[in-house]
Amino acid sequence: MNTLTSTMSSSPCVSSSPCVSSSPCVTLVGAGPGDPDLLTIKAVKALRRATVALVDDLVSAGVRRYLRPSARVIEVGKRGGCASTPQAYIHKLMVAEARRGERVVRLKGGDPFVFGRGGEECDALREAGIEVEVIGGLTAGIAGPASIGIAVTDRRCAPGVALVTGHARDGGAGPDWPALARSGLTLVIYMGLTRADSVVSALLAAGMSPAMPAAVISAATTPMQRHAFCMLGTLVRVVADEALSSPAVLVIGEVAALAGSVATSVALDRLDQPQGWLSPCVSEILCRPDAPARSGFRHTLNRGHDDPPVRIRARSGRCR
Ligand code: SAH
Repeated sequence: MNTLTSTMSSSPCVSSSPCVSSSPCVTLVGAGPGDPDLLTIKAVKALRRATVALVDDLVSAGVRRYLRPSARVIEVGKRGGCASTPQAYIHKLMVAEARRGERVVRLKGGDPFVFGRGGEECDALREAGIEVEVIGGLTAGIAGPASIGIAVTDRRCAPGVALVTGHARDGGAGPDWPALARSGLTLVIYMGLTRADSVVSALLAAGMSPAMPAAVISAATTPMQRHAFCMLGTLVRVVADEALSSPAVLVIGEVAALAGSVATSVALDRLDQPQGWLSPCVSEILCRPDAPARSGFRHTLNRGHDDPPVRIRARSGRCR
């Protein structure tokens, strides 16, 4: 049997049908970034069915309300820097509850497979002979930026997006910051707030411009949401000045300058800085006759190292 055939014939990690049969089964449910209205209908159905829920601490109260009042809720939070439930214990608990015949939901913030240890939990359950169903959720690194108007893969400025951790595994290698700095991808950094200074230093050392647009979004889609637009070079100061707290995602890339009038005015303010610079892609967009950010601004935009400067004239409405 060749490798492909043997891969296809082995049992899949994830069941395509919901956990409704009598065999032991656990449903990993993505709770989204916070706003309960961002839950999928499938997630709500699973929450309503559950008799036991193992819940991460990033899961909002509004999402938990979809559990039945009779459901047993087990808190298994793992927030960085705080006491956390050992992963092996969570695995054992899920297996034990499923074997007892409970309808078990493992409720995780965002998407279970995006920095959610969903893959490890899936493997542990499968090894114990428990079926697994996975219900994806909106991940904070896409829904958070979207909530403030950042399209992380705006094709005018970014060929794609990289979701990366700002927090290397114990003893493990962190992301390859030089490669990421060169990639031209929008960088969305999870778990990066407390390490923002080292992330920024690594990107600057790799040659990324200090004027690269950036944004920080804290507690996205919750009533506590706060955010700031800034530049790579001012990000650390802005986080401190604005007292932005976890959970938060950092967005670094030209797309952050296209998010709306606040973002674009920050982008244009950059030109008052010694390193004032806009990439060709952003300057072209801001130079369009219908660009909302134009009124009130009069700036010279450098379109890249070799291109002639572009002047935005607010009154005449022309870019030169
Ligand atoms: N599985 C989750 C990520 C878990 S890792 C997901 O797909 O979203 C935890 C990190 O996610 C936090 O440190 C933070 O960087 C990010 N995060 C989670 N919820 C967030 C929110 N509401 N606002 C901003 N960042 C959030």
